[in-house]
Amino acid sequence: MADTKYIFVTGGVTSSLGKGILSASLAKLLQARGFRVTIQKLDPYINVDPGTLNPYEHGECYVTEDGAETDLDLGHYERFLNVPTSQANNVTTGRIYQSVIEKERRGDYLGETVQVIPHITDEIIRNITSVSSSGSFDFVITEIGGTVGDIESLPYVEAVRQIRFANRKNSLVIHLTLIPYLSAAGELKTKPTQHSVKMLLELGVQPDILVCRTEHPLNEGIRHKIALFCNVEKHAVIECIDASSIYEVPLLLEKEKLDEVILSKLGFDDLPGADLYTWKQFLSKLKNPKNSVEIGLVGKYVELKDAYKSIAESFIHAGASIECQVKLRLIHSEALKDDDVCEEKLKSLSGILVAPGFGERGIEGKINAVKFARTNNIPFLGICLGMQCAVIEFARNTLGLKEAHTTEIDKNTIHPVIDLMKEQKRIHIKGGTMRLGGYHCRLQPDTGIFKIYGQADISERHRHRFEFNNHYKDGFLKAGMLLSGNNPELNLVEIIELPSHPWFFGVQFHPEFKSTVANPHPLFRAFVAAALHYSKLEKL
Ligand code: GLN
Repeated sequence: MADTKYIFVTGGVTSSLGKGILSASLAKLLQARGFRVTIQKLDPYINVDPGTLNPYEHGECYVTEDGAETDLDLGHYERFLNVPTSQANNVTTGRIYQSVIEKERRGDYLGETVQVIPHITDEIIRNITSVSSSGSFDFVITEIGGTVGDIESLPYVEAVRQIRFANRKNSLVIHLTLIPYLSAAGELKTKPTQHSVKMLLELGVQPDILVCRTEHPLNEGIRHKIALFCNVEKHAVIECIDASSIYEVPLLLEKEKLDEVILSKLGFDDLPGADLYTWKQFLSKLKNPKNSVEIGLVGKYVELKDAYKSIAESFIHAGASIECQVKLRLIHSEALKDDDVCEEKLKSLSGILVAPGFGERGIEGKINAVKFARTNNIPFLGICLGMQCAVIEFARNTLGLKEAHTTEIDKNTIHPVIDLMKEQKRIHIKGGTMRLGGYHCRLQPDTGIFKIYGQADISERHRHRFEFNNHYKDGFLKAGMLLSGNNPELNLVEIIELPSHPWFFGVQFHPEFKSTVANPHPLFRAFVAAALHYSKLEKL
């Protein structure tokens, strides 16, 4: 613990200020100076992980290489840093209590009364420090979920106080706050920030740095006032003005010298310079696209954009890499009732993505969308449930198996083209029991997918229970569907494609979890390129 520096990010005034983006941006700036950085998110809710949460509650559930179901902020961390995260990077109150209660039952605390302080706070501290247990990181940035003042985040703030008390030299606290603009008064207001800092002080934590979300620039007067009332040095009052893209935030914070202030507070005198060359190149391509395409995302959680966060970001990375802006149109699968509605809603698109998902709602609309893409030669990508829908659609409309379905929706279907694996049939507990995390996949040579990846062995992340039913393999092959990627260890079909179609792929895994700014995912790149090609043909 001695050499690792701990930076805590708390939030004040309101939720949704972007603690995740702030943490990821700061990590990027430190990484650009050559430091080894990791980010951790502590979530104050009682679910052991967000895997059992409806996306409407908390947005997308992000899956790490080691198969942890985590908060979507971990996706930002990976996309910004291009470094994989793991279970240790996301801890919830449920997980903390679960482990304390297990220890209590084992007798680890024999004779003691088990209490929030010190047992829960010790467990929180253990989780924070163990991320860099072997000194593997120079910086651990720990984001405390929720807003200061929430009952449920109290033990986390107390843990921060204890770490600061024990190790003042190697730790600091950044408080992210809001400076609202009252248009009637024509003024930026500092009072909510003053109150929020007071609340932190009541809990024994003095923030070292204030990052102020604002719609208007902070003038010197405002900075001075915030510094004075909040007991923070003026140069540690950092403006964070609304940006048009999250990827601009590291540069805005660099301009405000956030990284320099932090490094000098943590005792780094001889500062190595930051190398943000590739980041800036990415941003310049993102902002100056030469082309643009519209791709439809067919899903059932479209009211909430965060439900498909990683997919949306993957399009941004892929688009920028080929200088093509991707306009993502979110389409509610429940609306796609028949061919006529599909025609009306999907016709003008240059690509169709059918999204992952669970349960019956909207599934027939997804299957209709696949059919529309397949029969109209529109570039198509099906992800997880989207691939399963492509299998069902092909079985129904090409193989003539009208009753074909997945047993997730129709347990008694006479053609279960998508079915549970034998191992899954015995599982009744819902949390953490899906096929999760990175799995090997072998690609067949001379296939479209092989050309896209340019190699035979890949690894991609999974989150599902149901699989292609191998019993139907021959029928699909004979009718012209290629089963071009499989997992040899479990004998599972992972990728389908239609060579008779200009660009039609379905993948059982989630490529979106591995796309980063530094490494746009090849499948998304190829999809955007195919959509661009299609859009140009359309205009001929
Ligand atoms: N519901 C499907 C399954 O469990 C697909 C899951 C997904 O799309 N992530 O297999």
